[in-house]
Amino acid sequence: MSFVSFSDLRTAAYCPRKLYYRRRDDDREPPEEVERVRDLAYRYDDVLEASNAALSAEPIAVSPASYRDRLERTRTRLERTGRWESIRDPVARDRLVTGRHCRGIVHKVLADPLEPSVVSPGRPPERGVWEPHTVQAVAAAKALAWEHETAVETAVLEYPAYGVIRRIELTTRRKALYRRTLRTVRALDGPPARVRNRSKCESCAYASDCGVTTRTLRSLLGLE
Ligand code: SF4
Repeated sequence: MSFVSFSDLRTAAYCPRKLYYRRRDDDREPPEEVERVRDLAYRYDDVLEASNAALSAEPIAVSPASYRDRLERTRTRLERTGRWESIRDPVARDRLVTGRHCRGIVHKVLADPLEPSVVSPGRPPERGVWEPHTVQAVAAAKALAWEHETAVETAVLEYPAYGVIRRIELTTRRKALYRRTLRTVRALDGPPARVRNRSKCESCAYASDCGVTTRTLRSLLGLE
């Protein structure tokens, strides 16, 4: 059986139909801006020392003062749990990892304990992490565990544009979500049903292919 990629899992956890379109269009390269934001996650020390003017030129999503404040609080919290050093200086970066079922790039491999870090270019939720990132993190943790023949029970999610870093445990619920998504990806054949949560469609690049009328389109058509 072929390996499922982490990015396919993440997309399917957002919307299986979106994965169908991405595969159809072979649309897999991340935009350049994504790499710029991800790069911030490897320069936290520099970013914390940067002036407001220098920070303004970085791809951050909040004001320089708020950003520094958030990142400093994040650093203090992670120093207390002994994880800051591993996150700022991981043992490996952008490593291709192959597990029993899935394969993909682990943005950072952290040691003692072994765990993956997923670096997202986007916005974090108010609390916790988004479901697609949960699924990606579980897949990355399982693949690392498979390669190293050891248990991996936690993962880190970084949102560098916002100076936010969160750590999650691989709970039974999160592992079940991963398994459900894996089954969905493997069963993908024709276009699946549209998602019920239509707020997801607002930021979806396939809204017009999909035949979904988003708020942006409704306003362009003068329907609201
Ligand atoms: S527009 Fe909505 S239903 Fe259609 S692919 Fe995108 S997220 Fe899924």
